[in-house]
Amino acid sequence: MTQTLLEDKKLLQQQVEDQTQFIHLLLHQLATPLTSLQGSVQLLGEDLNVDQRQEFLDLVQQQVQHLQDLLQSLVALRDLEAGMLARPIAFCLSSLVEEVRSKFHSPLITNHIQALPDVWGDRWQVSQILTNLLSNAIKYSPADSAIEIGATPNSEGFVEVWVRDHGLGIPADAQARLFERFYRVRHHDRANISGTGLGLSLCKLLVENQGGHIGFESVHGEGSRFYFTLLIAQPA
Ligand code: ADP
Repeated sequence: MTQTLLEDKKLLQQQVEDQTQFIHLLLHQLATPLTSLQGSVQLLGEDLNVDQRQEFLDLVQQQVQHLQDLLQSLVALRDLEAGMLARPIAFCLSSLVEEVRSKFHSPLITNHIQALPDVWGDRWQVSQILTNLLSNAIKYSPADSAIEIGATPNSEGFVEVWVRDHGLGIPADAQARLFERFYRVRHHDRANISGTGLGLSLCKLLVENQGGHIGFESVHGEGSRFYFTLLIAQPA
């Protein structure tokens, strides 16, 4: 077999392995909420008082919401992997940050972006990245904790956009795996916080779709700063 054929075969094998692992993880992700749903629905058929009934109804609602989130993220992942293109335009980042920020109705989120040149990217996709990072900052922080958004131009023609929180932070031994699909940090400080483990892998694909990169700095117990780069728009 020629060298190229061997390489093609290896690549194909790797792709099949990746797909198999993805399906394995997906089945697990579907099985857990479905088992819980089944349990709650069964219990709802029993003789319960009003409070108990409400408790199980809330549980059902949570699990349905979880399945909806999962589905939405999977559709977005599929679209990106099927080559959903960015439709880049020049736009004002600070205005977009204001739009996204207002959806959260929280005075604790502040926008620190100062005079900045227009950036170049798919406005809707960038709004999804910001929404995901802000949702995580809120989810993994105490209720009264401040969250800051900022952007710093660098000398290489990029702007670094960042979201900083003062919440739970990320344990050092979990940091290398954070952008993996379905990866969730296992630690007692977030045992009661639900999620799909898809948000950051989606962010990574979306950022790379704009030609940028994503990263973070975090100290467990102190907070995190997630950042991604966007191109500065060239004057027409
Ligand atoms: P999810 O939040 O659905 O679990 P993500 O892919 O968005 O999935 O995040 C992966 C993991 O990274 C989370 O389980 C969480 O423990 C950790 N994480 C993400 N963002 C933050 C943050 N701002 N602060 C602390 N931990 C975070």
